[in-house]
Amino acid sequence: MLPADNHVHTEWSYDTSHEASMTRSCEQALAIGLPAIAFTEHLEFTAGREGDAIAGVATDARWWSRIKPLDVTGYLAAVQECRERFPELRILSGVEAGEAHLFAASAGAIVRGRAFDRVLGSVHAVPYKGKLVAADALFGSMPDHDVMGYYFAEILRLIEDSDLFEVLAHVDFPRRYWPKGPHLFREEDFEEEYRWVMRALAQTGRVLEINTKTPLASVAMVQWWRAEGGTAVSFGSDAHLPRRVGDRFKLAVDVVEAAGFKAGRDPYDFWRV
Ligand SMILES: [Zn+2]
Ligand SMILES: [Zn+2]
Repeated sequence: MLPADNHVHTEWSYDTSHEASMTRSCEQALAIGLPAIAFTEHLEFTAGREGDAIAGVATDARWWSRIKPLDVTGYLAAVQECRERFPELRILSGVEAGEAHLFAASAGAIVRGRAFDRVLGSVHAVPYKGKLVAADALFGSMPDHDVMGYYFAEILRLIEDSDLFEVLAHVDFPRRYWPKGPHLFREEDFEEEYRWVMRALAQTGRVLEINTKTPLASVAMVQWWRAEGGTAVSFGSDAHLPRRVGDRFKLAVDVVEAAGFKAGRDPYDFWRV
């Protein structure tokens, strides 16, 4: 059996197109035989409030004009509707909290006190020269290798400063935007950085996501996670379209199994060593 897809966006995320659909994502999950789907809508902020660290590191946090607040009430009602409509599918609620270490109060006000099934932590934007900027925008501002280093340092701060999330999403996010050309992205060039963040994540007992939108993790990389003390992985398509739900999961399962992780008795659970 395939694992649960723990990272899916729908019409409730600000960066999806008119093709996005929670209902059709459920249909797709059933069609390809997923036991469960988690809707993890974006939770991002463009301004801090009292208690957020952002003010200390960036005077301008408007890193993307499309960002909109999550309509939590509307979203949770839609999840409930889908649960009634698709009783044969386990449907999990959730959010993907962006930069939760910089917006601890803002994100906490949404997440704490609500029983979300899945809370992902991610970094899409980083403080740079007094502004919060999209991580991929750093390419061109500094050598490509340094962009990844800069990003991993921010991921480390997220892990150390925020306990809001359970699963670390796309650990090497800027890799998606690595400039085309002869110098290819090679995981082994960043082994030390991967291991730093993995060690910190494992020490807090949290879960590493295998993101199948990003270039797929190698067996070696998942083995680093295990070697650094990681005991659980989460599969996430990061789908923003129904047809991408569960995308490349068979391949991801092969990678994760080769690194020594396996499905538990509970098909909805993370995969563990
Ligand atoms: Zn993300
Ligand atoms: Zn996402």
